[in-house]
Amino acid sequence: MDAADVAADLTEVLYTSDQIAGRLTEIAAQIDQDYADKDPLLVGVLNGAVMVMADLTRALHIHCAMDWMAVSSYGMGTHSSGVVRILKDLSTDLVGRHVIVVEDIIDTGLTLSYLMQNLASRNPASLKIMTMFRKPDALKIDIDVTYLGFDLPNQFVVGYGLDYAGRYRNLTDVGILAEHVYS
Ligand code: 5GP
Repeated sequence: MDAADVAADLTEVLYTSDQIAGRLTEIAAQIDQDYADKDPLLVGVLNGAVMVMADLTRALHIHCAMDWMAVSSYGMGTHSSGVVRILKDLSTDLVGRHVIVVEDIIDTGLTLSYLMQNLASRNPASLKIMTMFRKPDALKIDIDVTYLGFDLPNQFVVGYGLDYAGRYRNLTDVGILAEHVYS
């Protein structure tokens, strides 16, 4: 599905699939350099990071492993509280591993901040963050992002793994969801 298929539901297309693919190629080249001979473990946060994980790992020229976590944030409605319950944990032991957490989007940063503390306590050799999108104006906590796709305005977006009510994850472009869809 592309933006033309759901044009009436979007007020603006922010990034096309071509722009996303281009940026991921650049990030992958950087990771190739930074992790040559390190056999990194990429940890994806379900469900949103599925698309970015699939595309980023295939753009790499080095070996890597993948594992997944699922978390649920105890929030008030649409607001993240930063208190996180682990619904699915990793199958991989992180001791001594070079870990890159792969995220779809950092909004307040509260969920990821909790997750990073949790992962750091498992004694990886290194722990970095790659996120496809970040909303700098929504951040409530300082998060050290090593690999960033794009910054976004502080609005609700869908596409490229990001859903609204389970829909739009399979939208290849990323756009701002029109108010009439959720009001
Ligand atoms: P945080 O704890 O950083 O506020 O929450 C991050 C999570 O909120 C993301 O992993 C994502 O699931 C969800 N999220 C934040 N902003 C958006 C957005 O604009 N669109 C969608 N679809 N999900 C978002």
